[in-house]
Amino acid sequence: MSHAQMTRPTAPGDISSVSPSLPTPEQQFATAAVHAGEARQKPGDAITDPIFCASTYTFADTQSVIDFIEQEQPREEYGRYGNPGERVVERKLAALEGAEEAVLYSSGMAALVGLLMAKLSAGDEVIFFDECYHRSREFCTKHLGRFGVTTRQVKTCDYAAMEAAITPKTRMLISESPTNPHLSVVDLERFAEIGRKRGVDTLIDATLATPYNLRPIAAGVDFVLHSATKYLGGHNDLLAGVVLGSKEKMEPVRNLRGIMGAVNGPQNCYLLGRGLKTFELRMQRHNENGMMVAEFLAGHPRIERVYYPGLPTHPYYEIARKTMRGFGGLVTFLVKDADWRATADVIDAVKIPRIAPSLGGVESLIEQPLVMSYYQQTPEARKQFGIYDNMIRMSCGIESADDLIADLSQALDGAA
Ligand SMILES: *Cc1c(COP(=O)(O)O)cnc(C)c1O
Repeated sequence: MSHAQMTRPTAPGDISSVSPSLPTPEQQFATAAVHAGEARQKPGDAITDPIFCASTYTFADTQSVIDFIEQEQPREEYGRYGNPGERVVERKLAALEGAEEAVLYSSGMAALVGLLMAKLSAGDEVIFFDECYHRSREFCTKHLGRFGVTTRQVKTCDYAAMEAAITPKTRMLISESPTNPHLSVVDLERFAEIGRKRGVDTLIDATLATPYNLRPIAAGVDFVLHSATKYLGGHNDLLAGVVLGSKEKMEPVRNLRGIMGAVNGPQNCYLLGRGLKTFELRMQRHNENGMMVAEFLAGHPRIERVYYPGLPTHPYYEIARKTMRGFGGLVTFLVKDADWRATADVIDAVKIPRIAPSLGGVESLIEQPLVMSYYQQTPEARKQFGIYDNMIRMSCGIESADDLIADLSQALDGAA
């Protein structure tokens, strides 16, 4: 036995000396999902990571405190700055994304707020593509302004308009890809190039794609954000969010998170890490189910239009096909000649998908954006955001595609 093997850092409670098995370039995605970020030998010799229910971490003596402050010993200090289970999940997410650094938050929105608050100051400007999660838009337009930050929206995928909107005060270009709920797909290299050329950071909210389907960092994007509540957690049982990027650019982000305190409890981190073990398997099924449901709907006489980047009729099919490994489980569609009530009748007639907001979990979900997210908006505002009365958004879970299609079929026929 070598010396390294002899000195196993596994005394229960000794979390400071475990060396995580970092991802190696030759590691495949599925292998990284199971193993990356974890110590090979864990406290208590357990195969799973323990849940440390600690709000604070003790020091043996004053010299240990001083060593820690002088950064001689990486270790935990206080729960708001991190906990061991959270670090495992952050390393795993960074490995999956191909990013140097991941900072975990208590929700996707906390991640967005945390990143923007860390990066923007009064007088700065941000520009974003207008198809996006309604709360992200609300934060930018309603709240950043209170801190003296100006936000501009330009039409999604209008790169010339985005570039033209840049001024010397512009600090960040923001987009989702694919967008929610229209599934428009951004040409990431073009988007990143505008930022690089003009010296402005770029951010992609890739929640709908996940690192399995899309690689924004490899395309040159500075920051990637995910609502881990969706596919990363994957089981509709937790909220979390993550921002990823280079060590250098993420440093102020991590520092502000330690002050904001939008952190996950140790149990939540464990659940997220556990969900990630099956990430590739789940994504493969979500991709298959999304494609099959989209194809079924595209061929159905009661459907006016299907938004799904894997369909050749989708306006962004070519760029999606070139840049995405799969197209995800989210399918948006319009019911032909249906008012909002007839559309709601289709939703009320399905038996498998549950009526709920959110997406990306093992259970299929279905919703009418008009009712679920835009009910209190004026018809003009809805029209401006491309939210139609006859629009349905379905998040395909990991059930059998045959059952989902049979269910949609009976709902469309019965509600006719
Ligand atoms: C859900 C979602 C968010 C917000 O994430 P939470 O975890 O719900 O806070 C942000 N962006 C997109 C694209 C989302 O779907």
